[in-house]
Amino acid sequence: SVSASGMTANAYRVDKRAAERARWEEASKETIKKTTKPCPRCNVPIEKNGGCMHMKCPQPQCKLEWCWNCGCEWNRACMGDHWFDV
Ligand SMILES: [Zn+2]
Ligand SMILES: [Zn+2]
Repeated sequence: SVSASGMTANAYRVDKRAAERARWEEASKETIKKTTKPCPRCNVPIEKNGGCMHMKCPQPQCKLEWCWNCGCEWNRACMGDHWFDV
């Protein structure tokens, strides 16, 4: 009947929207995984800022300056070798 097919179409549309949202959430989770790393000292997730390897923890009680590449405190070798990742 007409009403039954109408309901089916509506249900399908809702499913499709939910599936799209789930896919989008998955994709943004993947992006976060790729662009954030935990601070080596306090483990707060920190987002990478462009191509610079020099990271600074935003936590007021930490403020560690650290290397995205090495995952440790920022040092002279980091400054010379990979300050910028091209
Ligand atoms: Zn920190
Ligand atoms: Zn380094």
